[in-house]
Amino acid sequence: MAHKINDSCASCGACVADCPMEAISEGDGKYKIDPDKCSDCGACVGSCPTEAISAE
Ligand code: SF4
Repeated sequence: MAHKINDSCASCGACVADCPMEAISEGDGKYKIDPDKCSDCGACVGSCPTEAISAE
């Protein structure tokens, strides 16, 4: 399991610094979460202004 960033992502990058696993990086048109690094802690969820991050 890993958290995911959906198409509501505005590529603002606000979530990146909140991830203790450094699992979030800029992707193609939106940011992405590396499922191999994500520990499902949920720390990034509240930082997203477009509510684009959720658990599976
Ligand atoms: Fe990082 Fe936690 Fe968000 Fe996973 S749920 S991407 S570990 S901040």
